Amino acid sequence: MKNVLAIYPGSFDPVTNGHLDLIERGAKIFDRLAVSILRNLDKEPLFSGLLVEYARLREARVILRGIRAVSDYEYELQMAMMNRKLNPHVETVFMMPAVSYSFLSSRLVREIARLGGPITGLVPAVVEERLRDKEL
Ligand code: ADP
Repeated sequence: MKNVLAIYPGSFDPVTNGHLDLIERGAKIFDRLAVSILRNLDKEPLFSGLLVEYARLREARVILRGIRAVSDYEYELQMAMMNRKLNPHVETVFMMPAVSYSFLSSRLVREIARLGGPITGLVPAVVEERLRDKEL
């Protein structure tokens, strides 16, 4: 019996409802799903190296990533190919969120929050609260 562990890596700065949508979809498909938070600011080169190493350590078979629009594709494809080269045993699997989250990004949420705009419905309530506290 296969017991497939998928890793869903990201900055999640902050977690949005789009991320939660993907977590729900992933959790339905894979036996286990580990959400892994990246701490590197300069993430690009480190991301691939550390991520595949982490996947190896945890014996994960899948890296889950989200694709919102064509604009995500090029970057994601490059990273998936590099990760495959670094660790051929791990497959990158892409999932699409509900259309209503396809415009949502952590960067936009941070910008809206910084300018005092409404972020209700874009992030979980607890994140909304924390972002509000930060702005005070
Ligand atoms: P990263 O900086 O590694 O892209 P993010 O936290 O921005 O980290 O995103 C993590 C993953 O979640 C990425 O695969 C990204 O494409 C995906 N993602 C981000 N926002 C959404 C969204 N609204 N819907 C679906 N997937 C998303």
